[in-house]
This record gives sequence, structure tokens and C-alpha cells, in this order.
Amino acid sequence: MNDLKVLIVDDDKTNRRVLKEIVESMALVLFAKNGQQAIDKSVELQPDLILLDIVMPDISGFDVLNQLKNNPKVDHIPVVFITGKHENEIEERGLRMGAIDFITKPFHSGIVQARVYNHLQSVIQKKLLDHYAYIDPLTSIPNRRQFNARLQQEYLHALESNQILTLAIVDVDNFKLYNDHYGHLKGDQVLKQVAKAVENQMKILGGFVARFGGEELVILMPNTNAIEASSRLEEIRQSVESLEIPHIKNISDYVTVSIGYSSANILQKGHANTIFEIADKYLYIAKSNGRNQVNGQTSTIK
Ligand SMILES: [Mg+2]
Repeated sequence: MNDLKVLIVDDDKTNRRVLKEIVESMALVLFAKNGQQAIDKSVELQPDLILLDIVMPDISGFDVLNQLKNNPKVDHIPVVFITGKHENEIEERGLRMGAIDFITKPFHSGIVQARVYNHLQSVIQKKLLDHYAYIDPLTSIPNRRQFNARLQQEYLHALESNQILTLAIVDVDNFKLYNDHYGHLKGDQVLKQVAKAVENQMKILGGFVARFGGEELVILMPNTNAIEASSRLEEIRQSVESLEIPHIKNISDYVTVSIGYSSANILQKGHANTIFEIADKYLYIAKSNGRNQVNGQTSTIK
């Protein structure tokens, strides 16, 4: 099943039932009886494929497709139109609007099944590519590319909702000395363990963590002010030290991290990187003050 979800949108109960019987061996089946439900359920349930009836009483399939393609939350979901009779103009219009295929009624179950199967295979391929494009292969946490996309989203959200966005940079202390002493493969193990520990903490505390590069992780905590950030990041610092990974070239007996953060009050569009630069400055202060500590403040982005 691969956890795939197909949303069947048709105002006719019999059509929904027949399509369900054809599709259910390949994916979890979801239903919508009308256009509005189709839009709501697409946003809420994020199906992997939508089978969309064109002729419906409230909102037509064309209008539904139009709304889906204009909503960034669902514009990526492939849509297959269901049409009563084959008409070239209708098919061309649908394909130009972004539908990927057409299924004609009455349903030929073998053809419908083969088409849906092929489209679901493409979905699986795309998910795999997305996974490799957005996940760091060493630590299995999000990579810098995913972080950049997420930062843009959270920055805009914070600006629009007037919330404080905290960005933190977590840097393993004396990591070069660790690699020189223990070897790079052991160093890789440290990065994996640290990433896991930080990720686990973020799951509890709420927030997003990615590997920025080298021995640096980066954290986003939406709607989090400097006071909250400081105590959460202190927990993260402690969680790494309490892994008790020996590091005889460090200021502690164990592997530790320094953390710099900026809790940004955002008043201006388009300066997401400034938050990073400020956090980087505080990371530098944490390092020069002796490492294994958290340093940061509220900043205003204007
Ligand atoms: Mg209909």
C-alpha cells in the first residue's frame, strides 16, 4: 500500500463505489461528494492523487482544479479528470489547466486500474526524489535545502502573524580536533548522535532542525521569544553533553555544543538571512566565551 491516499471526487454514489473497488487494492481511498469537500479534504488530508469528476452540481471539476492549482498547499497533487463522454475540447482544456490524465465513464476497470497504478508509481518516484533532495544522507535529518525553504515560510508567517521567530545555530565544539584525534568515521558517528539528540529534543520542545553543513545544525522555533528560546536551547546543550561521548581534546570530557540564537521581531519582508547572520554572531560569542554554552538575544529585523 505504501501509505498512498487517493481522493475520489464524484457527486454520484455509484461512481464513487465503483471507483473505490478499482482503487482500494492500491491505496487508501478517501471520498468527497462535491467540489467544496474536494478542496477542503485535499488541503486537510493531502491525498497523493485526486480522481475528479468534471460535472458536479455545486462547483465544477474545472473550478475545483483551478482552486487546487492556485493553492500552494495542494498545487502539487496530481489530478485525473473523470468525464462522461470523450470530447477533445474538454480534454484539451483539462490538460492545459494542469490535469495529468482523463478517465471516461462508464469505467473500464482494467484501464482505470492501470492508469491509477501508473500515476501512483510516479508519485512514489517523486517522493523518493524529494526524500533524497531534502534529507541529509549522513544524519537522516532535513538538509540545508529544506531548511532554506522552511526559513522562508516561517519568516513570512512570523511577519504576517506578528510572532517572534527564533533561529539557532548549534555547533559541535572542537570538532576538527575530534576528527584529528579519533578519525573522520568516528566524527561522522558523533554528528549522527548529536543530530538525533537535538531532533528528539525538538520533537518534545517543538521546532524544526536541519543539518546546515559540516558540524553545524540549525533550528527554527516559530512563535518563541528569547526567554523561552534560551531555556529550550539550554536543554538541548545539556542533552548533547549528557550523551557522554568522550572527547579528550575538548573543554569538557565529552562532546559538547555551542549555540547562538536570534529571536527575531520581524517588521520587514525579505531579510530571512539576517536572522541567521545575527545568530551566527552570537555563536561566535558563545565560542569565544569558552564554548559549551548558549548565547543570543532578541533582535529586530527592519
Ligand atoms: Mg457527476
